[in-house]
Amino acid sequence: MLKLTQAPNLAIATLWADAVGVEGIVASVQRQYLGGMMGELPPDQCLPEVWITHREQEARARTLLHDLQHVPQHRWICVCGELVEGGYEQCWQCGVLRPD
Ligand SMILES: [Zn+2]
Repeated sequence: MLKLTQAPNLAIATLWADAVGVEGIVASVQRQYLGGMMGELPPDQCLPEVWITHREQEARARTLLHDLQHVPQHRWICVCGELVEGGYEQCWQCGVLRPD
C-alpha cells in the first residue's frame, strides 16, 4: 500500500479513487470514518486519503491525478442564459458550444 494523496473531502477522495480505478489502478479511500472525530484530531489527520495497492502503479496514478486536479474550472454564460460550470465546453441546456 502506498499513499497517493490526501483529498479535501470524502466525495473527492472517492472520485479520485474511482477515476484511477477505471484505468486499472487498484486504489482505495482511507480514513473515511474519521470525519466524525473532526475537532479531536488535527484537521489534516481527519481528511480522507487515496491509497494505491501496487507501488509500481504510482507514476501512472500520479499522472492521472494531476489531470483530474487541473480540469479547467472556467464558467461561462450561454446565449440561452444558462450558466455553464465545471469545464464543460458545451451548454447542457441547448447544446451550443462555448464561444471563444
Ligand atoms: Zn445554452
